[in-house]
This record gives sequence, C-alpha cells and structure tokens, in this order.
Amino acid sequence: MSLLRKNIAEMAGYVPGFQPEDEASWLKLNTNENPYPPSPKVVEAILAEVGAGGGNLRKYPDAASRLARRAAADLYGFDPSWVILANGSDELLNNLIRAFAGEGEEVGYVHPSYSYYATLAEIQGARIRTFGLTEDFRIADFPERYEGKIFFLTTPNAPLGFAFPLAYIEEIAGRCAGALVVDEAYVDFAEVNALELVKRYENVIVTRTFSKSYSLAGMRIGLAIARPQVISALDKIRDHYHLDRLAQAAAGAALADQAYLALTVGRIRATRDRFSAELRNIGYQVIPSSANFVFASPPDRNGRRVYDALFSRKILVRHFSDPLLAHGLRISIGTDEEMEQTLGALREIG
Ligand SMILES: *Cc1c(COP(=O)(O)O)cnc(C)c1O
Repeated sequence: MSLLRKNIAEMAGYVPGFQPEDEASWLKLNTNENPYPPSPKVVEAILAEVGAGGGNLRKYPDAASRLARRAAADLYGFDPSWVILANGSDELLNNLIRAFAGEGEEVGYVHPSYSYYATLAEIQGARIRTFGLTEDFRIADFPERYEGKIFFLTTPNAPLGFAFPLAYIEEIAGRCAGALVVDEAYVDFAEVNALELVKRYENVIVTRTFSKSYSLAGMRIGLAIARPQVISALDKIRDHYHLDRLAQAAAGAALADQAYLALTVGRIRATRDRFSAELRNIGYQVIPSSANFVFASPPDRNGRRVYDALFSRKILVRHFSDPLLAHGLRISIGTDEEMEQTLGALREIG
C-alpha cells in the first residue's frame, strides 16, 4: 500500500542526460552545454554580488528579480509586466502546466520533442496528447481547433534541431483554443523567433533559457515573455525566492553583454555547419540544424552501435531508445577542436 498519490507512485520520472562523476575525463556532448565560458562580465557580476567575505549572501534576494526583469524587458522591447525570470526554464514549464491544466485536462506537445513536458503533466495529473511530425517537419494531424488547455511547441526542435517557420507557428497559435508555449531554448542559434507573436496573440507564451546560448546551465536561469495576466499567474504560483542573488546578478550581466553572446553563438554556428558538412562527407544523414546540436544518423542507421563506440572512447553523445530516434544520435556542438576529435573517432568507428 502506498500513501502517495496514484499518479506520483506510478510515474517513471524524467531521466536527464548522463552526468559522469569524473566529468573532466570525458568529452561531454550529450546535454547541449556551451563549450565556451560565460561572459567575463557575468563572472565579475557574480563575484561582486557575493560581496566582501560573502556578506551579501546573508540577505534574501529580491523576490521579484526586478533588475533582471527590467534588463530582459528592455532588451526584447516589452514592458516589465510581460516578463518573468525563473530558476531554469524548467521551472517555467512546470508552473505553466500548473497554471493552465488541472487534473484530467489535456496537455499537448509534439513527439519527438522535450519529454520533460510529459513528466510535468503527469505530476499534475493532467492528460497527455502527443502529435507526430510529417516528413517535412510539420505537425501531423493537428486539428483546425485544438482544444487542449496548453500546447508546447519546441522550436528549434530538440532533439532534431530544425526550426518551424514563423508563419507556421502563427498558424498553430491561431488554431490553439488554449495556451501555446513556444519553447525557444535554442532560439539564439536560429534565424527567427516568435516574440512578435506574444504581442499579437493573447495565448502565446515564449520561454527561453540561459543554459545554452549564455553558457549558464550551472546557474539555473530561465525567462518567459507573455501577457501580464499570465505573468501575474506565474508570480502567484512560484516559490517567492526562486532566483538566488547570484543568478539574478548573472542574468542581468549576461543580457547586458550582447556582443559576447553574438561572438560565441557565431562561433558555435560556424562549427555546427562545418561539422554537419564533414559528417555528410562520411556518409551520415544530418538534419539541417538551427540549434547548438545536430541530429545525425550513421549509414547503417544503428545509433546505439556508434553511441557505444564513442562511449568507449570517452566521448558522450545522446542516444534515444525511442523507435523514432534510435537510428541516430544527438551531438552537442563543442569547440572546433572537440568536433575534430569527434569526427576522427567517427571515421575510425565507421
Ligand atoms: C535545455 C532545455 C530546457 C531547459 O532549460 P533550463 O533553463 O536549463 O531548465 C527547456 N526546453 C528545452 C527544449 C531544452 O532543451
């Protein structure tokens, strides 16, 4: 007998990418971390926030993260009432489901995309409905009027890396009776984003993360832009001190250094495009990527075989056992040297 709620007792829980304990001895290309350090200004801001002898850490952080919110609002051209920061964009995804979908109500998303949406929906006791993809990367059988309470559209898609065109996202927004969350975790590596749709459609919410493009996965910072009514709801639900002092300082400094973002994102995109071309040269099928990873399939379409061979060479990539994805690998983009090393291993593995 269990005292737990039935859905919690029965759910499997999310399994993050493998985190080896001896991190330094691996080439880690499995969780889409950024190979470059964050902006030096971010590091300075964090150290300044710690204060002499750590004195500032005695005090609670600003519960509303006002400075960081204003920095984001100014950068993206919204009033601060349209912006919220959080402890990773995962916190926002969680609270969005809590805000929009009650027990037994429907949460929708595209499969394959980010499977954490399902875990969050299960915790809430919500129903899950997934939609597949067509050959040309559109949502298969999406209804003229989708009645689910909340729908997640990951663009660029993870783990496949393609981005939906803006006109298509807009069409989906118009077809959703409930909220449309555009999960833009990788959008800084892409050509287009959906921020203008937040202004034009009441039901559109954009979420972002500082984990990938801003090299701050270790700080846990996410961002959402939405109508003030939605932001107020998210503010009611969240823990009051959800963003610590160091995260708030880091967020503000990261947003302020757009030149550094452009530099590192530019490098990663150039490496990604070279790596993709080299993979095709050795017979891999590579989906054109708008993110900081590629989804690539070896000629024999046996992703597991190549995963294991890379693993034995201490190179970690991501393999999904899902039948839709098992033929390929998701490989995060590191530095040029790291991708050369990976290519060398792949040539050897054959
Ligand atoms: C990495 C990722 C997130 C989570 O970002 P955090 O800010 O690190 O919580 C959300 N959505 C997608 C699609 C991601 O890949």
